[in-house]
Amino acid sequence: MDFTSDFTMTIGGKPVAGATTMSVLNPATEQVIAEAPDCSRAQLDEAVAAARAAFPAWKATPFEKRRDYLNAVSARIFENLEGLKRLLTLEQGKPIGEAEFEVGAAGMFVQGTASLRMPESVNEDSAERRSITRHVPIGVVGAISPWNFPVVLAFFKVGPALLAGNTVVLKPSPFTPLTTLKIGEMLRDVLPPGVLNIVSGGDALGPWMTSHPGIDKVSFTGSTQTGRKVMESASASLKRVTLELGGNDAAIVLPDVDVATLAPNLFWAAFANNGQICIASKRMYIHKDVYEPLRDAIVDYAKTVKVGDGAEQGTQIGPVQNKQQYRRVLDLIEDSKKQGHKFLLGGEAMDGPGYFVPVTILDNPPEDSRIVQEEQFGPVLPLLKVEDIDEAVAKANASEYGLGGSVWSGDPDKALAVGERLETGTVWINETQHLSPLAPFAGHKQSGVGVENGVDGLLEYTNVQTVVVRKA
Ligand code: NAD
Repeated sequence: MDFTSDFTMTIGGKPVAGATTMSVLNPATEQVIAEAPDCSRAQLDEAVAAARAAFPAWKATPFEKRRDYLNAVSARIFENLEGLKRLLTLEQGKPIGEAEFEVGAAGMFVQGTASLRMPESVNEDSAERRSITRHVPIGVVGAISPWNFPVVLAFFKVGPALLAGNTVVLKPSPFTPLTTLKIGEMLRDVLPPGVLNIVSGGDALGPWMTSHPGIDKVSFTGSTQTGRKVMESASASLKRVTLELGGNDAAIVLPDVDVATLAPNLFWAAFANNGQICIASKRMYIHKDVYEPLRDAIVDYAKTVKVGDGAEQGTQIGPVQNKQQYRRVLDLIEDSKKQGHKFLLGGEAMDGPGYFVPVTILDNPPEDSRIVQEEQFGPVLPLLKVEDIDEAVAKANASEYGLGGSVWSGDPDKALAVGERLETGTVWINETQHLSPLAPFAGHKQSGVGVENGVDGLLEYTNVQTVVVRKA
């Protein structure tokens, strides 16, 4: 397969060129790397019609058989890991090792999803009647993915949606459509036509999908701001929605930690994927007894990390993915400068080309500053000194977000007692960002509606059906 050109949409199992095209840039060079199709409204209608046409047969396909299809999807992704990871680095910017991890994770999540069972419960089994509740597919799912993990986050949706018996129209972000389009191409002979359709396009395409009368459910991952628009648009036809949105995860550090071991772990909790992770640690509340040594150890470690083009050997952090986000991150840095916050590292844009921002660490900025309160989604981290752990928990919870959080301590039980007080969908103890196809992942508060992964995630792609049989 050619991973460098001929990017087409997949509609009804066939390649479809865009009515027009849109340019996709490499964020490390700002050079155009390819033209991607810009889906027209008529083409979206075709994709939805193809998904609707494929739905009855797919729904009627036995669950075990759909599971085999998922395993075949996973195998095809793994077979093409080499080409896909290079393409992902080119369009997304992340280092090649991280791109390999992401594509592999997509394969692994689809495989893990295939091992889930659909629950069925018996409500009554008496002499008069038998009442059971089962879960039936919804119909056509519109899946919308973001640019930070374009591949794995798309397959968080595609795997369970298909396993549950739905058909899908998937739309990647216009910043990172290429790897997803190629996966669509390689799955054309794996899945029946129309079961998985992939369309790419500009800013109009998402709203067309969320308001499309032929789409029954929207599964969206992206910012909280866009999530609100998606929910509003979907409400017109009462589409089911799953929204995985933004976060401002806190890491809480107890005074009994081993500073030398912890510093690199905390660094990557914040800076992996250049900080562009919904569940990155975006503010760190460190107990005063260990604040100075840990701060210095994190900064010393940060100085050893190489920022550069993700395609180059040795790069550990790539560019910010797109110009819009690059400007947003620089704006937050500018604000901190204006407020007179103390910078321990970074703080200046790097020479172009490319959307490079150096690793930037701030020393105890005020709690009400933008860099603490807002989701930075980039390589800027505020370290915050707290008097005690109650203060840390109160500050961690005083957020509109509730995605994840972590607690770090030499004593896991002590950390767990703190973690249980966090108002977030996931709590990690002495690690962070570990996700599994078997474990539900959900956002509290403004971080989302609904669940992905695990049986709870699978059930999001179903309607409940209770069947009551009167016995003779
Ligand atoms: P975004 O909201 O700008 O875009 C996400 C997707 O929605 C893209 O495909 C975009 O084209 C599409 N879109 C934009 N406007 C739309 C509209 N009005 N209707 C329908 N679709 C529309 O988000 P982003 O900048 O791509 O991603 C970054 C954000 O995503 C961050 O806030 C991050 O925390 C969040 N995120 C959340 C999770 C999670 O699982 N909770 C995971 C990754 C990223």
